[in-house]
Amino acid sequence: MLSKKMEKALNEQLNAEAYSSYLYLSMSASFSARNLKGFAQWMNVQAKEEFAHAMKFYDYLILRGARVTLQGVAQPPADWAGPAAAFKDTVAHEEKVTAMIDKLADLAVAEKDHASREFLDWFVKEQVEEEAQANEIAQRLNLAGSSTGALLFMDHELGKRGKG
Ligand code: FE
Ligand code: CA
Repeated sequence: MLSKKMEKALNEQLNAEAYSSYLYLSMSASFSARNLKGFAQWMNVQAKEEFAHAMKFYDYLILRGARVTLQGVAQPPADWAGPAAAFKDTVAHEEKVTAMIDKLADLAVAEKDHASREFLDWFVKEQVEEEAQANEIAQRLNLAGSSTGALLFMDHELGKRGKG
């Protein structure tokens, strides 16, 4: 059985993953408004992935016989100055999420809840990937600078995500 403390913390992370999904969907909409269809597609796939993360917490809570308590999802920003600004925020956001997952793993260890610790391992690994991919794109955007050609090339490349 999950402790009340763990149940509450896992519900909070479910909410944080839902917010991540909302944040990236908002970035996708911001890119669409600028006709950056590839960046929009990439963020659309990312938003779906974040919702799947939220569902992993949902399913785990149910599996452990705990209560799922859905909280309101905070309103994300509506617009970014461009891809560089959005990916700068993405890197910062993923670093924040990594810190949250680490805190959850610390709690699981403190509570001697090995099932939850093992469940959280997947997220520990996922955050390494999330940070690496956000950093790679942010760095390439820095290299692209004010080159429209480089930006449109990246838009084309990122647009392949989720399309086989
Ligand atoms: Fe996530
Ligand atoms: Ca991922």
